[in-house]
Amino acid sequence: MKSVCTLEVRCVSKVFRDDDGSAFHALRDVSLCVQAGECVGIVGQSGSGKSTLARLVSKRIEPTEGEIALEGITRGKMSHKALNAYFREVQMVFQNPYDTFSPRMTIEHYLMEPFLNYKICSKKLAREKARDLLEMVGLNARDVNKRPDEFSGGQLQRVVIARAVALNPKLIIFDEATSALDVTIQKQIIDLIMRLKKENGFACMFITHDLALTEIVCDRVLVLDEGALIEEVSMKSGLLRAEHPHTRKLMHIAQRLCLKEECKRA
Ligand code: ADP
Ligand code: MG
Repeated sequence: MKSVCTLEVRCVSKVFRDDDGSAFHALRDVSLCVQAGECVGIVGQSGSGKSTLARLVSKRIEPTEGEIALEGITRGKMSHKALNAYFREVQMVFQNPYDTFSPRMTIEHYLMEPFLNYKICSKKLAREKARDLLEMVGLNARDVNKRPDEFSGGQLQRVVIARAVALNPKLIIFDEATSALDVTIQKQIIDLIMRLKKENGFACMFITHDLALTEIVCDRVLVLDEGALIEEVSMKSGLLRAEHPHTRKLMHIAQRLCLKEECKRA
């Protein structure tokens, strides 16, 4: 029997139209599949359509053409209720964790919200779960009463990841989730993501402009250029096997950045 993909994107295109009627093709005929527990990297230069793909898959916007299926069930236009259920199954982690919070919200409030919104448990139990989540991502349960501005960027991204994992989603989309962090913190967050993925079994879409990162995190990498998927590289064979000139250009950029970081640290 053919196994069902956690996520299937079938021939998806997205056209944005300006007020003057001019059209911009942000994604062109994109098809991909993410298997259960798999981590698929999406790489490409700025403007290649990575975040548009993330917004389509997470149902924040609708495709102009094509379909998106979660666990084999096509998700077209959905009712408010169905959309809410979908948001529970497909979580997103963005680049800047500070944007995710309203400044006056405590971490406790933020971490309790999914349990209360989806009526999973009582307030008392949600409070306990908020503390457990903080410890799960390597923070102190006592930090639960802090506000976002009392955390570093790396610590706050841990909190965001804790909430993303809270209700056991099927898929988490990380859109440049480590790009704003310095290299050491980036490594710690990647270790955290990999540990949680192993423990919780969610599938990942790991979006980044930094090809070097995908070698550590991903099973497979798909390369986007001007809205089209141009190459797929399996990490079993490694990035050095990439053939498309655009992928090779991205590799050179990644190598140059690595050298620069090494120089800075030397
Ligand atoms: P990436 O995440 O790879 O940097 P994006 O998916 O954010 O790229 O954007 C791809 C292209 O689509 C960009 O040229 C961007 O300006 C354009 N775009 C994204 N969202 C919109 C929108 N709502 N309206 C018009 N153009 C958009
Ligand atoms: Mg983006």
